[in-house]
Amino acid sequence: MDPQALSFDLTVAVRRKDAIISGIVSGIQRNIQRNDGIDFITGQAEFTSPVDLKVDGRALQADKTILAIGSTIITPPIPGLEEAGYITNDEALNLSTIPASMIIIGADYVGIEFAQIYSRFGTNVTLLGRAPKVMPNEEPELSEYLGTLLADEGIELHASTEVKAAGKTNSQRYVTAQVDGIEKRFESDVILLAAGRAARVADLGLDEAGVEMNGAFLSSNEQLQTTAPNIWSLGDANGDYLFTHRAIYDGPIAALNAVKGLGKTVDYRVVPRAAFTEPALASVGITEQQARDAGYKVKIGIEHFADYGRAQAIGETDGMVKIVVDENNDEILGGHILGPHADILIHQVAIAMHDHGKLERLTKTIHVHPTMSEVVKGAAKAAR
Ligand SMILES: Cc1cc2nc3c(=O)[nH]c(=O)nc-3n(C[C@H](O)[C@H](O)[C@H](O)COP(=O)(O)OP(=O)(O)OC[C@H]3O[C@@H](n4cnc5c(N)ncnc54)[C@H](O)[C@@H]3O)c2cc1C
Repeated sequence: MDPQALSFDLTVAVRRKDAIISGIVSGIQRNIQRNDGIDFITGQAEFTSPVDLKVDGRALQADKTILAIGSTIITPPIPGLEEAGYITNDEALNLSTIPASMIIIGADYVGIEFAQIYSRFGTNVTLLGRAPKVMPNEEPELSEYLGTLLADEGIELHASTEVKAAGKTNSQRYVTAQVDGIEKRFESDVILLAAGRAARVADLGLDEAGVEMNGAFLSSNEQLQTTAPNIWSLGDANGDYLFTHRAIYDGPIAALNAVKGLGKTVDYRVVPRAAFTEPALASVGITEQQARDAGYKVKIGIEHFADYGRAQAIGETDGMVKIVVDENNDEILGGHILGPHADILIHQVAIAMHDHGKLERLTKTIHVHPTMSEVVKGAAKAAR
């Protein structure tokens, strides 16, 4: 195959993405319409009291409400940023031309995924992260490893960076930042803001509803009930695990508690998470440090993809697996995978952890050879 003969058209990719999304949305709408018990009303909802709402001016009453309002980006108070102009993840998924250069502020999930996407499209990407490494809440060996891989493929990565100001000169945008205490200036065509998210509460009338916030997110208890006794809340709006599968998990719990008063509680001990970089970074449970901080004596198992036949055969040898285990009883506390198909492999660990499973779930189960899943088993066997 001649790679020079290949070409890439961003507008075709965006059209394909739109078609996929619209197919998914229509499927969901069909499911709603099939259900006679649902009146589907669209519009901006706003509380006028704990039991009264207006939807685009239309008055509604609800004894009980479940909020599934999601999250929106945080715009940090960076002087000059508004004047300079920036895009968010929404616009980044809908650009019609590939920018020559892009500064991305924020090096967590959203920032690193777009950094790699646009870098591979040919954009000169500068990725600015406040923490000492990308994906700062993940297992440090893996996030450092991923940072190195991103830098190796041409992304200009600056960690420990505090953006201080932004501006625009002619068609160029710029930001000034303290990088490890030294002031630096970066220029680009586009600034992409990916500096964190908060519950989407604008114009919702939370005060009228009696729903309080806990920092940037709604305050809710483990039954997903907010500070208003007749209002429940799920998904991103509650913070912590901003993933679709968490919102899907929350849904029935909020519904059963709101409608049937079952008092069900959420358990987020096993929420797998994944960044869809290449290689992907996926994890579940807690890191080694979190386990030690929580008072566990831990065993650690580490294995590298490069040592396994399947990874060598397909030429995807970057990455590693780290398993964190309670030394006292062999319970698996966490799994951390950077590597090919980490987003799939992580389910081996998640399923093993579901009911407080022990290490032998992974070490004694026969795994198909040659597969990437053997790396996970290998890390479990290496735990000591
Ligand atoms: C760039 C990006 C990539 C992501 N990739 C992944 C991924 O790969 N995997 C993953 O699991 N998660 C991913 N996520 C996170 C995922 O999108 C969210 O966790 C998920 O959508 C949360 O679901 P939710 O139901 O809580 O909120 P949402 O899906 O945000 O839905 C909230 C809905 O409520 C509506 N709404 C809000 N306020 C009102 C109001 N007052 N009146 C009426 N309607 C209102 C909103 O318009 C929206 O339609 C990604 C997020 C971003 C930003």
